Amino acid sequence: MLENKENAKTPLSNMGEFALIDHLTKQFEVKQKSTVLGVGDDAAVVDHQKEQTVISTDLLIEGVHFDLSYVPLKHLGYKAVVVNLSDLYAMNAIPQQITVSIAVSNRFPVEALTALYEGIALACKNYSIDLIGGDTSSSTKGLLLSITALGSISSENLVKRSGAKPNDLLVLSGDLGGAYAGLQVLEREKAVFEVNPKLQPDLSSYSYSIGRQLKPEARKDVIGLLESLAILPTSMIDISDGLSSEVLHLSKASGVGFHLYEDKIPIDPEVITICEEFKINTITPALNGGEDYELLFTINQLDFEKIKGHPLVTVVGHAVDSSHGNQLITGLGQQIPLTAQGWNNFEPST
Ligand code: ADP
Ligand code: MG
Repeated sequence: MLENKENAKTPLSNMGEFALIDHLTKQFEVKQKSTVLGVGDDAAVVDHQKEQTVISTDLLIEGVHFDLSYVPLKHLGYKAVVVNLSDLYAMNAIPQQITVSIAVSNRFPVEALTALYEGIALACKNYSIDLIGGDTSSSTKGLLLSITALGSISSENLVKRSGAKPNDLLVLSGDLGGAYAGLQVLEREKAVFEVNPKLQPDLSSYSYSIGRQLKPEARKDVIGLLESLAILPTSMIDISDGLSSEVLHLSKASGVGFHLYEDKIPIDPEVITICEEFKINTITPALNGGEDYELLFTINQLDFEKIKGHPLVTVVGHAVDSSHGNQLITGLGQQIPLTAQGWNNFEPST
């Protein structure tokens, strides 16, 4: 009955809260040793033994953080988990459990929540984590989704934003700007669709960027790489708001400045093409876009040989004495002070 048939629409009121929770959570099997008790009691129990427990929470609100006219619910569920895991990896922690809380209006049929939980289940599978609880409520308008992730790491290996020292190298995983470029394409297609719903857009030449926006991954692989190379970053953050803003966070927490080299920042060719199409400076989505979920970290110069030329990471700058401030060094050698223009939820909408 609830197997996500194309047009199936079972009203939430047909099911009742407990049957709904059971329906959504029964597909999850416990994988982690540290999960002592999962869904089904008054509270969950985890045991991270001698390691420290690392916790991160995100709240996502329809119309503020996501737009269901182009974000499929399965993708939303996947992404909501991944962005939390990214925060734990940015502490060098290993994610193990999540809780998921939802509030939904009766506009959503049961099948919509089934799709949301399919995405959540896929992320749990791909990252080997357990869903151990949550809460379910009705809302007067729209969908709210809050995810809390728990992980663990020994106190010696915990990496904060605050440990960078002058001369440390500033290193970035992957490439930047894709998620922002993908969002520009999706927003444009939505506007076209609103005018003419019969037009089927061909988005194949934008697939990398749209994928970066709709189905980001957390950099578990980079954390594994650093461990295998015996590199403990001196500071680390994940890129949720754009490189400028994250560099400034590391700078403030560590009490150092940074020199960031514009022509070292990796940008995918597809993103460059989209920037040309939208007449935006290619560096803007990397510096001030958002949602790339790459890792930005500093390492001691002595570790340089270990990562030199590795395809997963790029050295984009270095830390300097705080008196030099934070500077973007352009290809022509000019210094431009870095300013944070990351996403701001509180900006008045235009
Ligand atoms: P309580 O009344 O104590 O809040 P609930 O009936 O809300 O208990 O929850 C019963 C169990 O189901 C608990 O283990 C809770 O963590 C879990 N749970 C509730 N809602 C969700 C959800 N949306 N996703 C995952 N687990 C949930
Ligand atoms: Mg409850």
